[in-house]
Amino acid sequence: VIRCRAAVAWAVGKPLSVEEVEVAPPKGGEVRVKIVATGICHTDECVLEGSFPNIDFPVILGHEGAGIVESVGEGVTSVKPGDKVIPLCIPQCGKCSFCLNPESNYCLKCHVSEPQNLLPDKTSRFTCKGKQIHHFLWASTFAEYTVIPEYAVAKIDAAAPLEKVCLLGCGFPTGYGAAINIAKVKAGSTCAVFGLGGVGLSVVMGCKASGASRIIAIDINKDKFAKAKELGATHCISPHDFSKPIQEVLTEMTGHGVDYSFEVVGHADTMTAALASCNMNTGVCVMIGVPPAGSVISIDPMLVLSGRTWKGTLLGGWKTRDCIPKLVSSYLEKKLNVDGLITHTLPIAEANKGFELLRAGK
Ligand code: NAD
Ligand code: ZN
Ligand code: ZN
Repeated sequence: VIRCRAAVAWAVGKPLSVEEVEVAPPKGGEVRVKIVATGICHTDECVLEGSFPNIDFPVILGHEGAGIVESVGEGVTSVKPGDKVIPLCIPQCGKCSFCLNPESNYCLKCHVSEPQNLLPDKTSRFTCKGKQIHHFLWASTFAEYTVIPEYAVAKIDAAAPLEKVCLLGCGFPTGYGAAINIAKVKAGSTCAVFGLGGVGLSVVMGCKASGASRIIAIDINKDKFAKAKELGATHCISPHDFSKPIQEVLTEMTGHGVDYSFEVVGHADTMTAALASCNMNTGVCVMIGVPPAGSVISIDPMLVLSGRTWKGTLLGGWKTRDCIPKLVSSYLEKKLNVDGLITHTLPIAEANKGFELLRAGK
């Protein structure tokens, strides 16, 4: 058993509490990883707000991390102690019907199908003050050590700087993949990106890499515009600067709407605005933001009947074990600007400050 620090979420709406936890050794098919760095994704905040489905507290959150394998359980062959790895919040079991489908990255072992509050044997490897603490997305990267099923870790290049490539655990591949794998943005096209957090900025980068000629970035926080422009946005607008709905503004700016729109906020109203912003015939709208659990959207069916395509994605469509290591290699070849997404670096003791910065839009 390893004793180490973790930022524990004891209850909805409460700040994290950084405490000593015990991390049991990995059982068969599991890997214990020393987490070196982690990002904060808005999805962690959704859990703290109580708006993410099927989460049991107390829980150790965090799902955008990178680390080093400390030990492996019986039967583990694809990684060994000392290997650098990224925990995969969408696993790739390689056996389920969705893993076997070359078009899908959704593994039936992922949280949406089978809640990942406990490891596959339905027990936890974490305890704190004598209580069992739950896992989150089988990553729990807000702990200095975590235990993960082998099929939910990806071995990456030994040269990778873990404090940077941790962002390849969620935010970057989600946004970048939404543009290149899900929308399949074409050269010369026009794109609109709603929400310019880490994920939305990664969509902007994916649109730019695909050769989009106009990338319209939309956020209510204008402080996000400078970074969006640096990463490829050609226009930045705030819905607050217009009296008419943003979909009408975008339709006027482009004639008949954009070719591709992306919702990266997680609100029902921006989801319908994004849908209505794309071209009524060939437009493609990709849903990325996570709405509060139980949300319902009502739309005018004509929006889709006329030909628009409405899609969604988990983690940008990448088959994670196969593709995340390749993204790390592209990063090492300086083809992906992941460093541009890092705004602050804090020690684990200041985990709550990280969330305050996220809430403040910084
Ligand atoms: P973030 O909080 O850093 O960014 C969200 C941005 O949206 C902020 O800049 C905010 O100002 C902006 N915003 C808020 N209301 C707006 C509005 N009405 N119009 C335009 N912009 C508005 O969040 P993030 O970490 O970038 O995550 C974004 C979303 O993506 C979250 O909902 C998160 O849960 C989700 N997410 C989904 C996946 C997936 O696999 N589908 C993966 C990661 C994150
Ligand atoms: Zn995430
Ligand atoms: Zn699978």
